[in-house]
Amino acid sequence: MARYTGSACRLCRRENQKLFLKGDRCYSDKCAFDKRGFPPGQHGQRRGRKVSDYGVQLREKQKVKRLYGLSEKQFRIFFERAERMKGVTGHNLLIMLERRLDNVLYRMGFSNSRSQSRQYLTHSHFLVNGKKVDIPSYQVKPGDVIELREKSRNIQSMVDSLDAVVRRGIPQWLETRKDSLSGQVKALPTREDITTPIQEQLIVELYSK
Ligand code: SF4
Repeated sequence: MARYTGSACRLCRRENQKLFLKGDRCYSDKCAFDKRGFPPGQHGQRRGRKVSDYGVQLREKQKVKRLYGLSEKQFRIFFERAERMKGVTGHNLLIMLERRLDNVLYRMGFSNSRSQSRQYLTHSHFLVNGKKVDIPSYQVKPGDVIELREKSRNIQSMVDSLDAVVRRGIPQWLETRKDSLSGQVKALPTREDITTPIQEQLIVELYSK
């Protein structure tokens, strides 16, 4: 399935939640969800529509998929891996999504959104443990050191992002060293570290049908 290339703000409105897909704009008074917090389309403002259990589960899956910027196929692969692991499938899924390198760069503050992280990675701006890594789905592990390559250190948008990350905070399982334009994975994330409202059990129920 092709990657979604339409309006990011439309996705927030569809999922009825701010997904913070557009960096600074999401915190400004230009946020489309703050201005029009109802679903897009001709019938978006219609009230009192009954949603089936399936519909609720589907929306939750779509929300998480869009939050992390994955296609259906990529998301399904992550889910199947989570199912094969020990422990709670829903927790495993969210933890694996958090461990993606594109998400980690966003969480550390090197980018303003996960899609911007993916762009940086495909342009090979980062090293992990001294080696070039350009795979957004790369799973980080405790102890990994992530740093901006020497040749990329003058990219102003990254410096600006590092200033702006204060607003959303850096999770405790990660550390960012602004002076050396690097960061370290201190531990694996836990379910409690993921503060975005997500009901992962609904996704498990959806895929278990
Ligand atoms: Fe969503 Fe608002 Fe950001 Fe647009 S600006 S992506 S509606 S949070």
